[in-house]
Amino acid sequence: MPSRPIHILLVAAHPADSFDMAGGTLAHHVAQGDQVSVAIITTGVRSHHWKLAEEKRKAGAALDVERYVAQAVEEKLEEVRSACRILGFDDVRDLGFEDDDILVSQDKIEAIADVIRAVKPDIMIAHHPFESGGFKMHGTAGQCALYAWQLAQGSGRSHQERHPIPCIYFMSPTAYIGNNSLEYAGASRADLYIDITDVIDKKVRALDQIASQYYGGPYARKRAETADGSYGNSAYVAYAEQFQRFFPQVRYTLPITDAELKRIDEPQAVHMGRRSEIIGALMPLPDSMTYTSQHRVPKENYTD
Ligand SMILES: [Zn+2]
Repeated sequence: MPSRPIHILLVAAHPADSFDMAGGTLAHHVAQGDQVSVAIITTGVRSHHWKLAEEKRKAGAALDVERYVAQAVEEKLEEVRSACRILGFDDVRDLGFEDDDILVSQDKIEAIADVIRAVKPDIMIAHHPFESGGFKMHGTAGQCALYAWQLAQGSGRSHQERHPIPCIYFMSPTAYIGNNSLEYAGASRADLYIDITDVIDKKVRALDQIASQYYGGPYARKRAETADGSYGNSAYVAYAEQFQRFFPQVRYTLPITDAELKRIDEPQAVHMGRRSEIIGALMPLPDSMTYTSQHRVPKENYTD
């Protein structure tokens, strides 16, 4: 641990990105006395408010979504604030950009740089700038965060403060590899796993808050197993979050943990038992929700 508490700033593209990739790690830091702030670049309403999108599908052009947008923005922010409170932090900053404003732009970069100057983070967590080949709001958000880091470490203009961030991590760098073919040409790789097994229940309860995009209930539990559970399996634990360092770390000696040393004498049954925990799936579903097989794709639909 460092010699003083640290401040972490997570820069999220959409509201749920505040915690769904790195929330377990943030919960660990809060528990050891560190501070966490989150800056959410876009409202997420145009692309991630599935109930509003469903209304639009039914009504077509007749539905003027602008009548619902302000309320939907507030609804999504309230969901994410409840989720972050479950994980132990409540400094959630809404930068308010539209999520269909998808390009890297100076105004987004300036807004993030202002948060960096105000929060003065020791660590910034950002989306990988080449996620989905870079052609996605997450990639845009990652690129904006890196440009903002560059802006904030300069002398700025007028009375702007200066803050150089010493350490940057990209969250879930390989999460979308396979979703499109450009991902394979990127620079994404996982070089750090955080074991979040002891807080996976909190993360599932946080996901339960995100009702507007149907994350709550069965999906929260499925996601715990297939995302955090899959990373955990790669890291030989039950649940983990995955990161990629931006700058290589400089140390005096080579790092190795007791957890790694203990693997030398570890029986295989213990090794497999640790990876086999399945807490998320056994957590009770919220009332009125159930697992279902009724939405499976029938075999005939795969005929080409
Ligand atoms: Zn997102």
